[in-house]
Amino acid sequence: MIEIHQIPVLDDNYIYLVHEPDSDATVAVDPAVAGPVLAALDEKGWRLSHVLNTHHHGDHVDGNLELKAATGCQIVGAAADRHRIPGIDRALEDGDEFRLGAAAARILDVPGHTSGHIAYWFQDDAALFCGDTLFALGCGRLFEGSAEQMWRSLERLRALPPETRVFCAHEYTLANARFAATMEPGNAALRERMSRVETLRRDGLATVPSSLGDELATNPFLRPESQEIRQALSLIGAPDVEVFEEVRRRKDAFRG
Ligand code: ZN
Ligand code: FE
Repeated sequence: MIEIHQIPVLDDNYIYLVHEPDSDATVAVDPAVAGPVLAALDEKGWRLSHVLNTHHHGDHVDGNLELKAATGCQIVGAAADRHRIPGIDRALEDGDEFRLGAAAARILDVPGHTSGHIAYWFQDDAALFCGDTLFALGCGRLFEGSAEQMWRSLERLRALPPETRVFCAHEYTLANARFAATMEPGNAALRERMSRVETLRRDGLATVPSSLGDELATNPFLRPESQEIRQALSLIGAPDVEVFEEVRRRKDAFRG
């Protein structure tokens, strides 16, 4: 059983430490910075074995080289991104397995936010580290990929077990919730979640991780089957990908 420690950094990023007690190995997922990771390792008495990167953006990899120099850890990332992940030692492809002692993560290619984005799915621990592909009540912007590509990626994540915990890389949930409410005001599960999110943020607490089941019920980017959303977009009967694309376009333009 892995232990997960969440470190809030910068304005709204999360770095995750994943510790596997049998092997005493620990990974840092998407270290935007090194200092808070080293401090947390120290406090926990954990030794860093790997950095796992989901994609090449600075707010996910800028701590790589300092962590490698300080701990001798290995850097792991997407094969498609091997030219732009600082210090990369091991390049993974879709379907590969990353073993961490008794635990294991399946690699899922989920491009769209960037062309080389991957997610790490610890199936037995019901934990998904999905970087900037899927957020609580949102999804990543399309910087390098097409709507078709991102939708295919989200469909893969949508198919994982609903009890999967979604460890995304940013605390964007409240702003996402405000947009989601404009898409689907009649969704009772969304209204209930909105009030939970508001309470958590008012108390300065994290809304992440969420569960995939919660996302399926409330995240407008995963709900092209919602007739309310389709009605709002005048896309009754359109293919799912077109609904997704229009929700993404409206979110890009949304000033909540
Ligand atoms: Zn990013
Ligand atoms: Fe990011």
